[in-house]
Amino acid sequence: MSNLADITDYLIRFRDERHWAQFHNSKDLAIALSIEAAELNEIFLWKKDTEIEDIERVEQQTIADELADVLVYALMFAHRNGFDVEKIIMDKMKKNGEKYPVEKARGNSKKYTEL
Ligand SMILES: [Mg+2]
Repeated sequence: MSNLADITDYLIRFRDERHWAQFHNSKDLAIALSIEAAELNEIFLWKKDTEIEDIERVEQQTIADELADVLVYALMFAHRNGFDVEKIIMDKMKKNGEKYPVEKARGNSKKYTEL
């Protein structure tokens, strides 16, 4: 499996074999995506900055699994809404580039409204 379209096709087959399309409206896919993102956050919750690198190493598989859950729901949300994932990412990055020009944003974590 080499690209997003192939992965999405696999996900849709997986969903359809289980008759889960009936549950996959935009609201529930967005909520599921958010819950999976929260599960990713939970791995790091209450940890000190000095503990993060150890957690990244020790919990690498758990982190990968939760990130995969987020990406799966993101791809299914995109499919549901007819989005071309590569196009919407590149379109958004073009907007981000305009909001965060290199000369203003390099090495700076401020929001674009504060640059
Ligand atoms: Mg999960």
